Amino acid sequence: MAATDVRTPRRVMGLYDKPMWESIDAREMKLQRCTGCGTFQYPPGPGCHACLSMELEWIPVSGRATILSWVVFHRQYLPAYPAPYNSIAVRLEEGPIMISNLEGETPSGTWIGERVKLVYVTMPDGVILPRFELDR
Ligand SMILES: [Zn+2]
Repeated sequence: MAATDVRTPRRVMGLYDKPMWESIDAREMKLQRCTGCGTFQYPPGPGCHACLSMELEWIPVSGRATILSWVVFHRQYLPAYPAPYNSIAVRLEEGPIMISNLEGETPSGTWIGERVKLVYVTMPDGVILPRFELDR
């Protein structure tokens, strides 16, 4: 199977996800921010999870984050992710936690606490994913 035949798993689109994925496709990821209390939230939703305000705006994120946890898979589960590959949980500078993958160099010891920055990776089938790389 050629790399271009491999399909990236489809996006799980909830009722409020479309603006976020459109901003990722534009390589300027935006998340919802409450205009009342300033809280950023992810995943997107109908109202602020902190103060219940319904007034939300889409704001570009800084792309800066810190790794909270990581795992390296040595078994392949999906054709688009040949082993070994990693998954990371990061806390964005704006507050929300995201699950993603670390691109490029990986830390030699623990990954927890490593500073990372957002990068946009185009998969072989053209899907753009938000991922992270070490920010040193
Ligand atoms: Zn709020």
